[in-house]
Amino acid sequence: MTECMKTECPVCGPSSRTFVGECHALPVVRCDVCHLMFVGECSTVDETEEFFRTEHVDAPETTQLHYVSYRRDSLQREAAIVRRLVPDGGRLLDVGTASGYFLKEFQGIEGWDVEGVEPSAVSTDFARDHFGLNVRQGYLTEQNHGAETFDVVTSLDAFNCHRTPNDDLAEIFRILKPGALFAVEIPGQSYRLLTGSGLFCRLFFGVPLRLNAGVNFYFYTTSALVAMACRVGFEAIESHPEAMPSHGSLPARLIKGAYFHATSLLYRMTSGRIHYAPKEFLIFRKPISAVTGSTTVDASRLQDRRVA
Ligand SMILES: [Zn+2]
Repeated sequence: MTECMKTECPVCGPSSRTFVGECHALPVVRCDVCHLMFVGECSTVDETEEFFRTEHVDAPETTQLHYVSYRRDSLQREAAIVRRLVPDGGRLLDVGTASGYFLKEFQGIEGWDVEGVEPSAVSTDFARDHFGLNVRQGYLTEQNHGAETFDVVTSLDAFNCHRTPNDDLAEIFRILKPGALFAVEIPGQSYRLLTGSGLFCRLFFGVPLRLNAGVNFYFYTTSALVAMACRVGFEAIESHPEAMPSHGSLPARLIKGAYFHATSLLYRMTSGRIHYAPKEFLIFRKPISAVTGSTTVDASRLQDRRVA
């Protein structure tokens, strides 16, 4: 029988909350202090982790479709940004490797030594079999990596699935070398609310809320994630708009492409302050001289320096 546990705002802790709506029979709430939306009550962490190990991806065809075909363009752009920021290469860990297509973008390039950790047994096998990658099946905190091991840690459209995001951020910070980077892609909250709630959602999908709760647990804003990352010691250095998965009919893909280009332009013109892009790629750095415990947050430090 599934147990239920009450969750807390990862930014504010046990703050008061307002019920937003139900999605997949789970209550989505908004923190009254920082306004972060999250699943307010759900199964235990162990049950969620078992779900991602065994059920979430059921066949290699699913991995191919969702994590290669639909994601190819985004993963290529993000890999190019990481290679630009770390031109000499280094040791890179991708947390939530999925198909491994992102790591494949580093194969054969001098200086790069890449590996992944992925909960899904099906996706782990896919990444090993299709791309010959070094991927461990499981969760980051099970891997016992040494302190200051990696030059880059990435998390691409996966961090919103993490049940213990503050613990995982602290672990990522610990295993990065001083001066190393954490690059994370998250869905854009304004875009998610535009397409996953309100009249649009009721008209097109017949439900009040469409946020894939139970797979996603936290619906981060830029400022919330920057606050959490800075609290463990990171500094935010730049950000980029990103696209939604590319699928559907040709007209649907053309509309999505036009939307992405329009919102990217707005994002770039306002340095991310007006953010309706489907996704966002944020880059954090572990300072050379780490000072942890800082709560000073200034999302405006993020500068969009998108690769042309
Ligand atoms: Zn909060």
